Amino acid sequence: MNIHEYQAKAVLAKYGVAVPKGFPAFTPDEAVEAAKKLGGPVYVVKAQIHAGGRGKAGGVKVVKSLDDVKSEATRLLGSTLVTHQTGPAGKQVNRLYIEEGSSIARELYLSVLVDRATSRIAFIVSTEGGMDIEEVAHSTPEKILTFSIDPASGVSSFHGRKVAFALGLEGDLNAQAVALVDKLYKAFVAEDMAQLEINPLVVTGDNKLVCLDAKVGFDDNALYRHKDIVELRDITEEDPAEVEASKYDLNYVKLDGKIGCMVNGAGLAMATMDIIKYYGSEPANFLDVGGGATKEKVTAAFKIILSDKNVEGILVNIFGGIMRCDIIAEGVIAAAKEVSLKVPLVVRLEGTNVELGKKIMAESGLPIISADNLADAAEKIVKAVKEAA
Ligand code: GDP
Ligand code: MN
Repeated sequence: MNIHEYQAKAVLAKYGVAVPKGFPAFTPDEAVEAAKKLGGPVYVVKAQIHAGGRGKAGGVKVVKSLDDVKSEATRLLGSTLVTHQTGPAGKQVNRLYIEEGSSIARELYLSVLVDRATSRIAFIVSTEGGMDIEEVAHSTPEKILTFSIDPASGVSSFHGRKVAFALGLEGDLNAQAVALVDKLYKAFVAEDMAQLEINPLVVTGDNKLVCLDAKVGFDDNALYRHKDIVELRDITEEDPAEVEASKYDLNYVKLDGKIGCMVNGAGLAMATMDIIKYYGSEPANFLDVGGGATKEKVTAAFKIILSDKNVEGILVNIFGGIMRCDIIAEGVIAAAKEVSLKVPLVVRLEGTNVELGKKIMAESGLPIISADNLADAAEKIVKAVKEAA
């Protein structure tokens, strides 16, 4: 789960991390009120969307008067920001963050993530912070350095000094970097973060190390122990179909093709997507209904697949292990009736109670195309979609 910049800064501030003062705002008037509380003389009006690259897209404005705060807020709220991270459709700006301005001497880059190759939390830093970190990674990757932390011994000032040295921070700034690394590591572990990116981490004109931007993502599997973090969720930032799927505990990811897939097990789902491509079409989604799917779950999954306007056919590919094929068949039939299915449907069942499942489908009176194996199923749905078009 991702949160907004202003929320991320509030979480980090709890751990003593230095961030500029600021207030969120949902209307231009609230933006002006926030600016008044900050007192100026410089304000930064920042669009809050779950995507980076706002600066280059006009979503971060440094201004010097309350009038300008108001006009920038009016311009941004309700507008759609297209950045290199939002995709071409962009994201609508529904809230702002109004911050005190900072004088910037240097812009650095720092991020923390779980490095699966070493099974450790790693700090990634660069002296080339700011808005072009993707370009730095592409053309001068040697300017990006990684340090990992052994979970057995945890973080120590030694790690902080390594980061400080890599970033060319000396004297008091060295001490600030050591303290910062310690706090960020503790925040990362305690809050079960999956990623934390500070870009830019700045050295201010008066020699302070301050986090000017913050992007935080959390490990969804650990959210149950962070009720306060869950409250920060902004579902307007998420794909509506994926939000709906999460209510039923379905693993759904929308894709660009036209064949909707309903499968149990991530491996089988991947294989199903592969074989659809092999037969010359493209999957419209990844959908794993899980091992213990009920009729309700299957119905919900069906509706979610069909809510995608690109779907021209559905392939159900289920292996009945824990799950019985007759339950799946009943779910498929109930769902197909409920949504008055208008696209071809191919069902391949295998495993427990498969004969009963096939019988239920055959006797349903619905135009369900039955398939015997994975290749047969993929070939049939691709053909049926072509013929229906
Ligand atoms: P992003 O483009 O979405 O990553 O948004 P950032 O929060 O990183 O802001 C983009 C850029 O705006 C930063 O790299 C800074 O150069 C600039 N910026 C942000 N806040 C301030 C500020 O308080 N003062 C000044 N002078 N520039 C700022
Ligand atoms: Mn940034």
